[in-house]
Amino acid sequence: MQIESSLDATGVSPESAKMQSLKQFRSAGRGFWSHVSDADWNDWKWQLKNRITTLAQLEKLMPTLTPEEHAGTMLANNKLSLAITPYFFNLIDPADENCPIRWQMIPRVEETHTAPWELSDPCGEDSHSPVPGLVHRYPDRVLFLVTDRCASYCRYCTRSRLVSNASGYDFHPEFDRQIDYIRQNPQIRDVLLSGGDPLLLSDDKLEFLLSKLRAIPHLEFLRIGTRIPIFLPQRITPELCAMLKKYHPLFISVHSNHPRELTTEVRDALGRLADAGIPLGNQSVLLRNVNDDVITMRAQVQKLLMCRVKPYYIYQCDLINGSAHLRSTVRKGLEIMQGLRGHTTGYGVPQYVIDAPGGGGKVPINPEYVLSHSRDRLVIRNFEGKIFEYVEAGARDSRQYKASENFATPETF
Ligand SMILES: *Cc1c(COP(=O)(O)O)cnc(C)c1O
Ligand code: SF4
Repeated sequence: MQIESSLDATGVSPESAKMQSLKQFRSAGRGFWSHVSDADWNDWKWQLKNRITTLAQLEKLMPTLTPEEHAGTMLANNKLSLAITPYFFNLIDPADENCPIRWQMIPRVEETHTAPWELSDPCGEDSHSPVPGLVHRYPDRVLFLVTDRCASYCRYCTRSRLVSNASGYDFHPEFDRQIDYIRQNPQIRDVLLSGGDPLLLSDDKLEFLLSKLRAIPHLEFLRIGTRIPIFLPQRITPELCAMLKKYHPLFISVHSNHPRELTTEVRDALGRLADAGIPLGNQSVLLRNVNDDVITMRAQVQKLLMCRVKPYYIYQCDLINGSAHLRSTVRKGLEIMQGLRGHTTGYGVPQYVIDAPGGGGKVPINPEYVLSHSRDRLVIRNFEGKIFEYVEAGARDSRQYKASENFATPETF
C-alpha cells in the first residue's frame, strides 16, 4: 500500500522524523564565544555590546557569506541596520545557504529591489497616529511605540521605516503626550507596548511606563509585544519578572518563526515569564523558505505549547519594501492552516491574518469549511474533507432528515 512506502525500516515516516528533529530542544551553545566567561555570556548587556553589526565581523564569523549577502550587508546601514546578538547568531548554520535563521537575519541584496505595490509603511500606521508613537486604529485599544531599537533586526520588519533609525526617521517617543492621549480617551481599555522592543528599556524605565498606565482607571488590560525572549533570553531576569507581575493583567506576545528559535535557553526564559503569571502568546510571520510548510509550522506550534505559549497569530508578510524574496503566498498560508486545524491541539492553532495594506487592520483569512449555507441548512466539511450537514435552528424544510446521511459522503478536498 501507498502508506507503507512512505515509512522507513523503523516504521517512522520521513515527515514524523523531521517533526521530531525540529521539536528537539537544544541549547544555542557558545560557538565562537567559548572563551567568554559564563557571567558575561549570561549578561544581557554583554550580549548587546557584542552584537554583530558590521560586514567585517560577519565575514570573519561566516566565511560562507554569499555575494548576495555581502552586497546586502554593504547596503543595510541605509535601510535597516544589521544587528545580531551572539546568542542568536549561534543558531545560524553557516554551512546551509537556506538556513531559516540566516534568511531572517543576514541582509540580502534583494532588499534593495522594490515593487510598485511595496510600501515603507505598509499598514498605514503613520496616518493613524494621533500623537507621535501612538497608533489608534481600533476603537478600544492602542499601539504604544516605546523605542526604535531591537536586540536584533529582522530583515522583513514591517516597521523598518523607523526601527534601527537607519533610514533617518528619527523616532522620538514622547511618553507624556502618549500617556495624556490615553488618559483623555476613556474608550481605550487595552494598551499594547511595542516598538522596537519594549524589553530593551531598563527595568526602571519600563516600570515607570507600566505604573503610569496602571494609574489610568479605564485601562483594563496591558500587553507587551517583544522578540527579546527569543533574541536575548538573558534579558528575562528574575528581577524583570518580579517587576512585571505587579502590573497584572499583563500579557506578553512574543515573536518566533521557526522551531530552531525555541532553544532550552528560550524555554527557560518563557517559563520564568509564565511563572510570573504572565499569559504568553506568539506571533509568527509566514516567510518563504523559513516556515512556509506544514511540517515546520506544526512542529513550531507544538513546541510553543511545550514552552507554555499559545500560538496567537500567523501574519501574512506585509508588503514592506524589499521583502519579495521573503514573502510566501496566501495559498501556502491557507494550506498550512488546513494542516493545523484538526490535525493538532486546538490551543496550538493560531489565527492567520493579513494586516490590510494602507491601514484596514488585521483581517482573518480562513480555509473554507462552510460549503453552503441556506436558511435551513449548512453543508460543512471537516479536517479530513468529510462532508456533513447541520440543520439550522427553526428550519422549515419539510424534507425527511436522516442523521445517518451525515456520514454517507466522505470526499476529499
Ligand atoms: C495588531 C494591532 C493591535 C492589536 O490587535 P489585536 O488583534 O487585539 O491583537 C492594536 N493596534 C494596532 C495598530 C495593531 O496593529
Ligand atoms: S523584533 Fe519586531 S520590531 Fe524588531 S526588527 Fe524584528 S520584527 Fe521589527
